[in-house]
Amino acid sequence: MIAIRELGRLGTVFTAALAAVAVAQSPAVPDAVEQVARSYITRAALEAPIRFLSSDLLEGRGPATRGDQLTRLYLQTRLEGMGYRAAFGTGAWQQPFDIVGIKSQLPKSWSFQGKNARVDLVWRDDYIAVSGLQSERVALDDAELVFVGYGIQAPEYKWDDFKAANLAGKILVMMNNDPDWDPNLFAGKRRLYYGRWDYKYESAARQAAAGAIIIHTTPSAGYPWQVVQSSWGGEQFELPAGGEARLRLKAWASEEATRRLLKASGYDLDKLLAAARSRDFRPVPLGIRTSIAFTNTLARVQTANVGGVLPGGDPTLAAQVVVLSAHHDHFGIGEPDASGDRIYHGAVDNASGCAQVLAIGRAFAALPQPPRRSVLALFVAGEERGLLGSKYYAMHPTFPPGRIAANINIDGGNIFGPTRDASLISMGKSSLDEVAASVARSQGRVLKPDQFPDRGYYYRSDQFAFAKIGVPALYFADGTDFIGRPADWGRKQIEEWELKKYHQPADKLDGSWNFDGMIQDAQLDMLSAWLITQADAMPAWKPGDEFEAARKQALSALAGK
Ligand SMILES: [Zn+2]
Repeated sequence: MIAIRELGRLGTVFTAALAAVAVAQSPAVPDAVEQVARSYITRAALEAPIRFLSSDLLEGRGPATRGDQLTRLYLQTRLEGMGYRAAFGTGAWQQPFDIVGIKSQLPKSWSFQGKNARVDLVWRDDYIAVSGLQSERVALDDAELVFVGYGIQAPEYKWDDFKAANLAGKILVMMNNDPDWDPNLFAGKRRLYYGRWDYKYESAARQAAAGAIIIHTTPSAGYPWQVVQSSWGGEQFELPAGGEARLRLKAWASEEATRRLLKASGYDLDKLLAAARSRDFRPVPLGIRTSIAFTNTLARVQTANVGGVLPGGDPTLAAQVVVLSAHHDHFGIGEPDASGDRIYHGAVDNASGCAQVLAIGRAFAALPQPPRRSVLALFVAGEERGLLGSKYYAMHPTFPPGRIAANINIDGGNIFGPTRDASLISMGKSSLDEVAASVARSQGRVLKPDQFPDRGYYYRSDQFAFAKIGVPALYFADGTDFIGRPADWGRKQIEEWELKKYHQPADKLDGSWNFDGMIQDAQLDMLSAWLITQADAMPAWKPGDEFEAARKQALSALAGK
């Protein structure tokens, strides 16, 4: 998963008391299918690919490296050997795309002229910014700042912070997060896409704004200012620019700096924030103007998604697909850790996800009868650079979005042992909840919601790119209730792993791994996927979900053809 921008453990609450999901009637999985899952999703089937992909020889699978090429060749040949067909065009197993790297040289000091005073914000201490354009020089000239509250337009919540104001060429100052005080509004405390920084910048770009400044506060971000500094201070990675609306500047300002800035025009942050907590809020022109210019250093490399299709057996439903996905990239070779290891092995993240998709894919190929819908095993690239491979696939899908029944994404795996529970990150969003609950129950496990709901995990791995084109996803995290362990043992293991190994060279395969939980989880994914391939109807978003409109659009595009 990507977390370089959200490393904060701060402000996270572990809810111990969790409601088990009400189990709806779902058709059972036949014994023959369960038997195939048991035969092919085994420790050996999982461990062998993890050993290969996380070995020193693969050098951390950084995009566009030799290790990346070897990874792709390995995945492609495994799919071929399993009886899959090349997923892309005429016999192509890979879908190449470019990654653009942008290093911006922002000024040490950024000046603003308010009604009453001039304010200078200092790079890193007060503000962080990156280029919104893939060009060598970017300039904003005498642009006006406008406070736009949350910067959200959400018809399903009858919420529009812009109220048709003309914001072209302005710099929009906006709050992080989404309204969180009412459970019926933006899912209460749960952070929706509307509450994320990527939405904020996209939303501002749709208004033809020149730039956006997100106000950082620790509670609204879920992490301290230092995380903004460390994750936005270096090179940024993107897909090559297309015709999409783009800001020229994407910035953050610290809370303290924002207060100082607003005061220059006689505004008070707390009063503005209070006004923003209403549907009646209107954009507030701040009477603050600024100019800024900076240069960028650009670099371009190529990597590729890898995919294979197992054609469905039903004459009609075979035109629809269930996508099993896992990202194959990691960070390559980088800064050494305390032991001097410089290879970011990415054994859990995400050799383990690739291994699970391979094992599940193999099980599907071994079924006595092919599934009714087709299955696409998709290994996406560039996830750690910002979900780039899945984003690219979603822009260039090999099945029309309205025919992609569901995405089952696997990012990481349980290495601590079998659990009595399974955590469903995507819980509450679609009819897939019932499918997952019925399979979990057949395993004797309880399905629980996201254990860290404020972290927005749903938006931090590749299922998110599918959601944006309307495809509902199943996305699990490790269970936390480990068999034969004290109640909070699991949470401690997971948090310690995040602290000591996550996105570090130490994420490697060793003798301490217990595969029993990963086997449980991969079987849960496989049997859920099988139920989705067999059902007469495609899965659906829960009414009012933030991605329901995208699905309707995809289905009507299909009907229009
Ligand atoms: Zn990761």
